[in-house]
Amino acid sequence: MKLHNFSAGPSILPKEVMHQAAEAVKELDNSKLSLIEISHRSKAFMDIMDEACERALRLTGLENKGYKALFLQGGASLQFLMAAYNLLETKAGYLNTGTWSDKAIKEAKLFGEVLEVASSKDQNYNYIPKEYSIPSKLDYLHLTTNNTIFGTQYKEIPEANTSLVADMSSDIFSRTFDYSKFDLFYAGAQKNMGPAGTTLVIVKESILGNVSRSIPSMLDYKIQADKDSMFNTPPVFPVYTSMLNMRWIEAQGGIKALGEKNAVKAALIYGEIDRNSLFEGFANKEDRSEMNATFNLKDSALSEAFDGLCQTAGISGLKGHRSVGGYRASMYNALPIESVEVLVNCMQILEEKY
Ligand SMILES: *Cc1c(COP(=O)(O)O)cnc(C)c1O
Repeated sequence: MKLHNFSAGPSILPKEVMHQAAEAVKELDNSKLSLIEISHRSKAFMDIMDEACERALRLTGLENKGYKALFLQGGASLQFLMAAYNLLETKAGYLNTGTWSDKAIKEAKLFGEVLEVASSKDQNYNYIPKEYSIPSKLDYLHLTTNNTIFGTQYKEIPEANTSLVADMSSDIFSRTFDYSKFDLFYAGAQKNMGPAGTTLVIVKESILGNVSRSIPSMLDYKIQADKDSMFNTPPVFPVYTSMLNMRWIEAQGGIKALGEKNAVKAALIYGEIDRNSLFEGFANKEDRSEMNATFNLKDSALSEAFDGLCQTAGISGLKGHRSVGGYRASMYNALPIESVEVLVNCMQILEEKY
């Protein structure tokens, strides 16, 4: 029996996916060769890359709409600078909703003027700012759809008169929304898509090639797009495993079906946080993330008892990020509802005892 894995990332993947990925490392589809010892230009791998790109566009409803899916390296952190490198000519707007947005802002400042359009830093990022006006004449507006560390999430995508760019690392493929509102979005694989080592980037091709600076080849979306993510050797194992996970998502009924399950899991944990007299939630109720639930014990003297209960129940990865403290239950697509039930049960046992 595996542990109940609430890790924020790298994080849980479906066990079928894990099993198939492990098999492919030994031997890919009866080819008598391993996935990780064949040429990335072999037909076998090119088919895998094509399928991964096709599935990413299909899952997000962006097939035949002028978008390109790329699988790059360097994590979401490289996208902080790559987005600005490729798109920031004079001025860009950023919504600052947490550590990751803050890092994106820092990188973008290397390339032009950055306007912090709104921020929730004043309350340690426990909410999503709502009252602000977006100036005209921005090259783009950047936001982080789900704030992994603080446990907040945009429920509605802001209406902006400009190109929208988003970091979706921790909620990609977790809920349905109109992905075509974005001209560019990216997600490090290791939260809800696959193993660490690749980053999905989906970009509207018409926005590329419009800045005046010259861009190093590896960091140029246009070159990466023209080369179908094969400008250099792609990270074959994370791409393959992400592709398997996208197959799994489609087999589950797609993002819609998983989104419904994610809503049920989130309702279960937040219901208990609100009901249980020993706990309190961290994030503003209306902005609560369906992926990462952040909460605290009202009396920290009980933490040893609670941690002990969780450990006995086989719960792993529940510790909150150091900038928030307390607990964080990450409930990505592959986390079964049974794991959330086990956690809720531990919270109830604690309440009965104290
Ligand atoms: C984890 C995370 C990142 C950082 O991802 P790396 O792939 O490690 O660079 C960026 N943004 C968000 C929202 C994240 O959750």
